[in-house]
Parts: sequence; C-alpha cells; structure tokens
Amino acid sequence: MSEYGASGPSSIECRQIAELLGDYLDGTLPQQTRELLDWHIEGCGPCVAFVNTYRGTINAAAKLREIEIPGELKQRLLAVLRSQRASHQARP
Ligand SMILES: [Zn+2]
Repeated sequence: MSEYGASGPSSIECRQIAELLGDYLDGTLPQQTRELLDWHIEGCGPCVAFVNTYRGTINAAAKLREIEIPGELKQRLLAVLRSQRASHQARP
C-alpha cells in the first residue's frame, strides 16, 4: 500500500516538472498535462519552491526588459554625441 500507487497522476515526477515548467508557466501545455503538474505541485513542497523560484526568475527577467537604457549609460551616450558635435563645430 502506497500513496504513490500506479493509478492516477502520480506517474509524473519532479524531474518532469522541471522539464515542463517553462511550458507550464507559458500556458502552452495541453490541459491534461497541466493538470498533472498542478496535481503534483500541490502535494510536493520541493516543486512548490521550484515553481516560486522559477516565477521569480521570470519576473526579474521581465523587469530587466522593461528598463530601456540605464540613466548612466544614457548620459555617457549623450556626452559622446555632444563631444562629437563639438569637434565638428570646433573647426579653425
Ligand atoms: Zn515534485
């Protein structure tokens, strides 16, 4: 007798969760597979932690994409452009 019997969605493993997580969070998994992941993750602490970490990474990446050009870099670019223009104007 075991909680992890042959029947039901317990056939999915933590390793498979990790492999499928990208598609899972993208929402591109077939519903049946997604339900298997949901079912497993609900009852699996390590996978919950993994999902949270993965989501955090995605959020961090999304935030990075939102930033266009860092202020410092922008200032440096402007400085370069100004100095180029200045050298053009500084003809004898
Ligand atoms: Zn797991």
